[in-house]
Amino acid sequence: MRQPSITIIGAGFGGLGTAVELKRAGYRDITVLEKAEGVGGVWRENTYPNAACDVPSSLYSWSFAPNPAWPHRYSRQDEILGYIERTAREYGVLDLVRTGVEVTSATYDETTAGWHLETSAGERIDTDVLVTAVGQLSRPSIPELPGLGTFQGPAFHSAEWDHSVDLRGKRVAVLGTGASAIQFVPGIQSDAANITVFQRSAPYVAPKPDREYTATHGKVFERFPRTQAFGRGLTWRITEQFNKALIDDTPLKSMVKLGWRAQLFAQVRDPELRAKLIPDYEFGCKRVLFSNDWYSTLAKPNVHVVTEPVVEVLPEGVRSGDGTVHEVDVIIYGTGFAATEFLAPMQITGSDGADLHARWKGGARAFLGICVPDFPNLFVVYGPNTNLGGSSIINMLEAAARAITTLLRHTEAEGARSVAVRPEVEERFDAEIQDRLRNSVWASCHNWYHQDGGRISTNWPGLVAEYQQRCAQIDPADFVTG
Ligand SMILES: Cc1cc2nc3c(=O)[nH]c(=O)nc-3n(C[C@H](O)[C@H](O)[C@H](O)COP(=O)(O)OP(=O)(O)OC[C@H]3O[C@@H](n4cnc5c(N)ncnc54)[C@H](O)[C@@H]3O)c2cc1C
Repeated sequence: MRQPSITIIGAGFGGLGTAVELKRAGYRDITVLEKAEGVGGVWRENTYPNAACDVPSSLYSWSFAPNPAWPHRYSRQDEILGYIERTAREYGVLDLVRTGVEVTSATYDETTAGWHLETSAGERIDTDVLVTAVGQLSRPSIPELPGLGTFQGPAFHSAEWDHSVDLRGKRVAVLGTGASAIQFVPGIQSDAANITVFQRSAPYVAPKPDREYTATHGKVFERFPRTQAFGRGLTWRITEQFNKALIDDTPLKSMVKLGWRAQLFAQVRDPELRAKLIPDYEFGCKRVLFSNDWYSTLAKPNVHVVTEPVVEVLPEGVRSGDGTVHEVDVIIYGTGFAATEFLAPMQITGSDGADLHARWKGGARAFLGICVPDFPNLFVVYGPNTNLGGSSIINMLEAAARAITTLLRHTEAEGARSVAVRPEVEERFDAEIQDRLRNSVWASCHNWYHQDGGRISTNWPGLVAEYQQRCAQIDPADFVTG
């Protein structure tokens, strides 16, 4: 396959990083299709107040593009978006992006050993190689509550924040207490007249060791890049230890848990409220969150935590399970994303008419999260079982991009046009991953990592280093070329 045409769907960290990697490897015919009007993925979409990263910026950034000018240890949404746009330009991939193009279907053609794509505008695009980089958290999820459309005031999901809504003096209902809510509720608390937070399940919220970087930091990082590299290395080790703590139950888990407990008790004096905020599942089963002002915000007089579920949306507010009607002016859904619906709603058809979503009915699965048998020349970035309980996803995305490059080079070297993982290899891999996940902390409660049927289809069961190593040592014998 000489200079294949390569189409990447999605212009977030995953798609852009893969484009950089392929470009560096000498591939020239690369197009990135993005349905939104700009690059950045989740960092373009999630503009809610206080939106920020949970991983220090030294690590939540490209390994090849350190940024001495990060203003904080944990970057804010606009800072990350600016970084993505700048690095995409500097590494020459911004020009490869076509925005406003939504891919609706992809069909493999045996005769050309390539893919036919269709877009929502009815355009047909042919490509030799297809890379999907549509993210795991790019489709907001709103619960299907009775009366959803009847509410008379503004209602929106945190990932689709309506900045035209002035929250000053408003009564606000917030549904959900996940990673986004713990950031935006403190951000709107002083504006709103009152906030009713509906909590289905209490998160563990540990202190976030954030800090502002001074001009001196920037100068030192710029002048002595090794200092920043050292910081990245250190952060890497700490996050790997944190991953290990979740997997192997090491003392670090108890330490972070202690931090959580100390913060809760220091910030919430009211025993009744405190009782509501103590999770009823094992530490680490749901994503451990980091914030310094979540608990203190919930303790403010204008914030009320309701543990009864919302059962209905009404024109004047919401009804909770105990029958109480909560009258509000605005509803904000902090209800997360359709994380397990990988590649939806695209229709993907592989060899012999194989339907990817039918194949994934019991839960999405792919070899290293990247390759699916019978779907030649299709590569998934941030695919099934590549999400992390802690640490930077960017490391996973970079490792996957390198594995894709290796496979394309291998195909080229064989003088072949297509490459697909052997079914038995994927089968063995999946059995191993699921076996490890069954014994992991994530299996001990109901969380967004689970497919409806009970399978964990989002998370990687090991350390990032293991994923990197397995991607780097990808064995051509595990693949069939044609
Ligand atoms: C609020 C928030 C905070 C997060 N914080 C962290 C963190 O602290 N640490 C961490 O490691 N990870 C975090 N994540 C996870 C984050 O998803 C990953 O770190 C990373 O940004 C994923 O990049 P991606 O390119 O794979 O996906 P995305 O950023 O989701 O990009 C996917 C892109 O594909 C486009 N797309 C989707 N479907 C189509 C289609 N059919 N046609 C064309 N384009 C399409 C989308 O518009 C989007 O631009 C966070 C996620 C969210 C939502």
